[in-house]
Amino acid sequence: MTLFPGIFRGPLEESILRRAQEKGLVQIRVHDLRSWTHDKHRVVDEPPYGGGAGMVLKPEPVFEAVEALKAGPQSRVLLLTPQGVPFTHSLAAAFSAEHHLVLLCGRYEGFDDRIRSLVDLEVSIGDYILTGGELPALVVLDAVIRLVPGVLGDAASAAQESFAGGLLDFPQFTRPPEYRGLAVPEVLLSGNHEAIRRWRRKEALRRTLTRRPELLTAAVLSEEDRALLKEVAQEVEAEAGGEAPLRLRRGSPR
Ligand code: SAM
Repeated sequence: MTLFPGIFRGPLEESILRRAQEKGLVQIRVHDLRSWTHDKHRVVDEPPYGGGAGMVLKPEPVFEAVEALKAGPQSRVLLLTPQGVPFTHSLAAAFSAEHHLVLLCGRYEGFDDRIRSLVDLEVSIGDYILTGGELPALVVLDAVIRLVPGVLGDAASAAQESFAGGLLDFPQFTRPPEYRGLAVPEVLLSGNHEAIRRWRRKEALRRTLTRRPELLTAAVLSEEDRALLKEVAQEVEAEAGGEAPLRLRRGSPR
């Protein structure tokens, strides 16, 4: 539900999001909040009680819209707001298993606070303020839809990506094997699948340790992972001239 349905046109009509709809894997409907106004000027906003800058979205059309758009108890109503819970991969995975999501996009100073009684979850895409909830809704839609079974050609590609397994993804390379003096790691050209698997896991651990070490505390690590992590930590420390790996993050991440 939005005041600016046109914003959704491009992103929903291209590439994977378009194909997901064409294949019938997801249905997306964009609704104009003004459809639930009853006055000649289709007014949706008013100045805030108590004074101050900007306009606030009135409760009446929002209540009517949500009541009309909900499809029974299986619907989840999500409010896009910078005050919501941070949107993460695990939230995207949980949403991808839901049957029906209603996304509410704010504008101006946001909604009259009473509409929160309609909402199941308030979601933020980051600690910054955008002009409206449309881009956040598209971020949520994109992250959720690519996890719906059948949307990505190769389900393994979603499973191995950053965050899916609690780690950042390993670095990827493609042809040519050398470009401007920059060579692809030899192991990737070796055809040795076990060595490649081990290298990739180790590099995923290295990326995570040097860029997002806090993810390692929640990641599920095998015996092999712990051994690889020890190797990585020693290598990183040696490279940094004895500095702890964490200090690296403040320099240039690799
Ligand atoms: N006055 C509000 C506040 O400080 O919380 C911000 C209003 S913002 C200018 C207008 C709308 O953009 C919000 O109602 C929300 O729907 C959307 N929005 C802006 N930043 C967002 C973010 N980081 N995550 C999710 N939605 C956001």
